Amino acid sequence: MAIHATPLDDSTVSELETRFRGELLTPGTAEFNEARTIWNGMIDRQPALIAQCAGVADIISAVRFATEHDLPISVKGGGHNIAGRAVEDNALMIDLSPMNSVRVDPEAKTARVEPGVVLNELDHETQAFGLATPVGYNSTTGIAGLTLGGGWGWLSRRYGLTVDNLLSVDVVTADGELVHASEDENEDLFWGTRGGGGNFGVVTSFEFQLHEVGPEVLSGPIVHPFEDAEMMLKEHRRLAAEAPNEVAVWFVIRHAPPLPFIPKEWHGKKVLILAAFYGGEMAEGEKILQPWRDIGDPIADAVGPHPYAGWQQAFDGLAPAGSRHYWKSHNFLEMTDGMIETFVEFGETIPTELTEIACAQLGGAINQKPVDSTAYPHRDAEFTMVLHTQWEDPERDEECIAWAREMHEAMTPHATGGVYANFVPEKDGDQQAAYRENYGRMVEVKTKWDPENVFQLNHNVKPTA
Ligand SMILES: Cc1cc2nc3c(=O)[nH]c(=O)nc-3n(C[C@H](O)[C@H](O)[C@H](O)COP(=O)(O)OP(=O)(O)OC[C@H]3O[C@@H](n4cnc5c(N)ncnc54)[C@H](O)[C@@H]3O)c2cc1C
Repeated sequence: MAIHATPLDDSTVSELETRFRGELLTPGTAEFNEARTIWNGMIDRQPALIAQCAGVADIISAVRFATEHDLPISVKGGGHNIAGRAVEDNALMIDLSPMNSVRVDPEAKTARVEPGVVLNELDHETQAFGLATPVGYNSTTGIAGLTLGGGWGWLSRRYGLTVDNLLSVDVVTADGELVHASEDENEDLFWGTRGGGGNFGVVTSFEFQLHEVGPEVLSGPIVHPFEDAEMMLKEHRRLAAEAPNEVAVWFVIRHAPPLPFIPKEWHGKKVLILAAFYGGEMAEGEKILQPWRDIGDPIADAVGPHPYAGWQQAFDGLAPAGSRHYWKSHNFLEMTDGMIETFVEFGETIPTELTEIACAQLGGAINQKPVDSTAYPHRDAEFTMVLHTQWEDPERDEECIAWAREMHEAMTPHATGGVYANFVPEKDGDQQAAYRENYGRMVEVKTKWDPENVFQLNHNVKPTA
């Protein structure tokens, strides 16, 4: 049941109004309800006030106002965090969604990106110049939360994580000051923002390195009957072990969606889908992806040249905003037989038609950087499993969450024990598992930049007293 917000009195709100250019939304209006609604339909929280920032000055005003009035601060970028950390009961929500400009410098191959940008907006602007930086596979995700947690996608085996392509940030700190951070300036803060989430301040601008990509890439899904899953995954394991960094092949076990390239008789039946991507030269890609296309007897094979920006949106429809979601994740050093057996075992019991057992291929350039080069520590993972448990009926909450936890537990013996902070579904996740060897330095950086833990509605690292 939703908690009702303790409203701030009008005179307190007007105090902020005098130093604010964007919109201030108070409980009870349609605009407020729209702004507090985030991607995961499980999350129904009532902030005390929503500050829709028009620019950096508004963020500074909002941070100072919140600390003066002892209001917890939540920060909303794209609102895709599974645990719903962008919104909290009785907190001040700093909503960055109006700040969505992207400035590309085609000569330098860099982009300056505001924190309300979502991935399809970034791809749209960079692809106008045949450029891109590695980001996630769902284009409605926010660049801010994705980057701050690490960020990986189809281009990551070739060009590294999103944070590996981050050149600098501007940050509003806990005392309401704007600072710049890069490898040469406030290096500790820059280190922390590359994987440490929103722990250190509100990032107001991201500067990214871009690379020449597309505009067409070789990509597409290859669909097989679920009955062939074990054989398919063993073959995939063999091919993935030798794949060059331009390749990323992910797999998904789910019920076949009613998409036009899948024969009608298969719609709603369980399938294993290989999603194949080659980010380099097309003719070379044809040769390199062919062995995956030759395995078994596919129901459908839609691999071909696709616009990169279109491929980045290809899976959006499978994880729509508003469904109920509980996602769990694991990282793996390799695909063992036990892991494959567990994928197949739980593939049998997938609880809903919308649920997916997904496994992305990582490694490549991601793992070529030292663990302590950024706060993101999982530089050993070759594969990552994401259980996209998704359903619509609230009556099924308990059953679906229990299924995800059971499968997650069954996979634990095969996994590294590290967990990507961006895929933690609980409000209070396991910080050691998320930050691993880098946890100690995270605490030091937190203690220096946010000693009072002003920014705690995130995968929170506590400062030392
Ligand atoms: C459908 C879907 C697909 C996904 N696919 C991928 C994927 O392919 N690869 C991948 O790496 N991840 C993926 N993710 C995970 C995604 O990276 C995280 O959910 C991320 O937190 C989303 O960022 P956001 O800005 O949309 O979220 P929000 O919920 O708005 O923010 C997430 C967290 O970041 C903090 N935050 C947001 N903006 C700022 C800011 N400017 N300054 C400081 N703190 C801030 C928030 O307070 C919150 O704690 C996916 C998630 C979903 C739902």
